[in-house]
Amino acid sequence: MPGAVPRVRFAPSPTGYFHVGSARTALFNWLVARQSGGTFVLRIEDTDTDRNREEWVDGIMSALHWLRMDPDEGPYRQSLRTERHHQAIDVLWAGGFLYACDCTREQIEARNKERGIKTPGYDGFCRDRRLPRGDGRALRFRTPDVGITTVHDVVRGDVEFPNAAMDDFVAVKADGAPLFVLANVVDDIDMAITHVIRGEDLLPTTPRGVLAWEALRSMGWMTDGSTGTGAQPAPDLPVFAHLPMLVNEQRKKLSKRRDPVAVESYRDRGYLPDAFLNYLGLLGWSPPGGEELFDVNQMVQWFRLEDVNHSPAFFDVVKLTHMNGEYIRAMPLEAFIEACRPWLSGANAPWPDGNFDEVVFSTLAPLVQERVSVLDEVPAMVDFMFLDEPIIDEDSWTRAVANDELAGAVLSGALEAYGGLTGNWTRDALHAATVAIGEGVGRKLGKAQAPIRVAITGRRIGPPLFEALELMGPDRTLARLRDALGRGDTGPGS
Ligand code: GLU
Repeated sequence: MPGAVPRVRFAPSPTGYFHVGSARTALFNWLVARQSGGTFVLRIEDTDTDRNREEWVDGIMSALHWLRMDPDEGPYRQSLRTERHHQAIDVLWAGGFLYACDCTREQIEARNKERGIKTPGYDGFCRDRRLPRGDGRALRFRTPDVGITTVHDVVRGDVEFPNAAMDDFVAVKADGAPLFVLANVVDDIDMAITHVIRGEDLLPTTPRGVLAWEALRSMGWMTDGSTGTGAQPAPDLPVFAHLPMLVNEQRKKLSKRRDPVAVESYRDRGYLPDAFLNYLGLLGWSPPGGEELFDVNQMVQWFRLEDVNHSPAFFDVVKLTHMNGEYIRAMPLEAFIEACRPWLSGANAPWPDGNFDEVVFSTLAPLVQERVSVLDEVPAMVDFMFLDEPIIDEDSWTRAVANDELAGAVLSGALEAYGGLTGNWTRDALHAATVAIGEGVGRKLGKAQAPIRVAITGRRIGPPLFEALELMGPDRTLARLRDALGRGDTGPGS
């Protein structure tokens, strides 16, 4: 219904984790609503009782909330609207748009085989048999024999489907349950949806929806007024926009099993909602100025459905992660510290809660903020400070200590030199002492630091060493150097 104030809907089926592709669909719908004073409707398409689970509905709601895309209306439950779907079936039956069919799949296949037809489809066997409804018969939609059904799609242009190539599809199953296309269209009409924006995988079934929509309209179908828009004649066909598929680096459709597609897992690992939204915005669209980093308000301002691309969009976790790092570094320090909270205690933190020290963490925080891309990397950056003993990463130990013939000399040099600094325990003094140790063994500072860093923090990567040592204090630092030397494998021949 071009021209009207947009009413868009996001209509997920709760059959699994909330997929990044669904999040992108939700975002593009939400953007259209926000930029036009329109309404963002959430409809849960939960009629497939074998595959739906209530926890997935909760997952959808909480992911939308995390991304700050709470619906303006809904969630409506498709499963609570079956009465309307059945009314629509009666209307379409009365109008002659449906006919009953008792063919089994085997019978249809056998007939197709006999005639040498390879593409599966219905041959219209029951079209003119005038079977009554009921008795376990499916209802098929009588598609026109001639002409073309055109889907006017904002992204793909006019997509034409010759009616002759469209079979008489099942609209109502033999057990009386309406099928997806019918329920989906009845709901869109009743909810006065003006724009159907969804994944491209649904484009092939769209001409069926168009036929059903027009059939209902021709029968004078009135919306039920259940959504606050009041009862009104079925509106014109909506604007369609089928969004490009998301693919992985092999250019294959993202797979639930192989690819990390669950929005929940990104949230739980410490991706920021702003960064995530920014990245989602680039999946099939980019701003006219070519910007890559933009906030949601800019997206609302710049987004045009017409500018959505139709080629598949690469969902690039590396790029998303990099972008998240940029968002983390752009945060005010206080906000960063707050955002880290969930990773600083309880199950996400490897130290006992009582060991955590707020002041120490705040001092380390600016150093950590520069070095993480995702918040779940934070504990490993600071755990050495809050654990009684560092967690020794074996690979780091092997590389920086066990395989280094000078590691033993560096560590004992540090134990001795740092031991003399207890009255002047500053990062500068520690730095100077370490430079001198390096010179003593013929090494630059970077290389000389490596065994010390692993002895103290357990890892080769972490915040700047001398700031960390200053914070840790002489007692713990010296004890760890002693422990490391005591492990016995501090370099070949040790
Ligand atoms: N429930 C459908 C799905 O999750 C989407 C329907 C639609 O957007 O029209 O695939």
